[in-house]
Amino acid sequence: MHVKYLLEKMGIQPKKSLGQNFLQDPNALEKIANAAHIAPTDTVLEIGAGTGALTVKLAQRAAQVIAVEIDERLLPILHSQLRDFPNVRIHHADILRVDLDALLGTQPYLVVANLPYYITSKILRHLFEARNKARRLILTVQQEVAERLVAAPGEMSLLSVSAQFYGKPQIVARLSPAAFYPRPEVSSAVVRIDLHSKPPVDVPDEELFFHVVSAGFGQKRKQLKNSLSRGLALSHAAAADLLVRAGIDPTRRAETLTLEEWAAITRLFAAQDARLFVQ
Ligand code: SAM
Repeated sequence: MHVKYLLEKMGIQPKKSLGQNFLQDPNALEKIANAAHIAPTDTVLEIGAGTGALTVKLAQRAAQVIAVEIDERLLPILHSQLRDFPNVRIHHADILRVDLDALLGTQPYLVVANLPYYITSKILRHLFEARNKARRLILTVQQEVAERLVAAPGEMSLLSVSAQFYGKPQIVARLSPAAFYPRPEVSSAVVRIDLHSKPPVDVPDEELFFHVVSAGFGQKRKQLKNSLSRGLALSHAAAADLLVRAGIDPTRRAETLTLEEWAAITRLFAAQDARLFVQ
């Protein structure tokens, strides 16, 4: 049944505050499910199952689907739409409070989701920081976010550095607002992120790497020597010296750096920190 009528029949008004823009275009649903390349033995975690339109497509392809949904008003619809699929487990929860390692154990899994846009970055962080990480993420996000995820040096942000540190993001489809009910104000894109089994650059410590990167991006459009000096509590001279030793012009801006350059700064900063510790 058409999602609009399904919701109306149940007397449910979509909540903007929960990012509820449901997919209503059958082609878009098919495109997303196909982009996931699900094998019959796969376990899929779906975030924000909504009325179950995408869940059905996933259940037809996977061995098991774990569908997480926060809005209890949608649970009766989900149970009814999925009654013929014993391979679906519906989990009523806030995904940000779900311990993914407890939910999935050590089994390999994929994530497929039409994300609630208001918490995209938080969900990405939650997925990236799980001990047992997904093999692949197929996420519908705002087009602008998709472009930030795949950005190249010159247009990098904290989001692109983290997506590219943990995986290899690519845009696989674009969706117009008409694919959703209600229509969002923005265009959307489907992003596939294949997660690395180990980071593509050598860093002594992940937390320190992100501390350095966050410091670099901490002050918009500032020269790196200034943002690192402030964010890492170094003198201007020490921050400039760190950058020069990493082979980076201290007047460059954070958005121009490659992952390898961030890693080089982190390695030198870690070594310098250790030296200070010994003295
Ligand atoms: N998958 C459905 C579809 O494609 O039509 C719904 C997608 S809708 C963009 C996002 C869904 O995420 C909504 O059903 C919303 O209730 C749910 N949601 C929002 N915040 C959530 C959270 N913190 N944890 C789990 N689900 C959430």
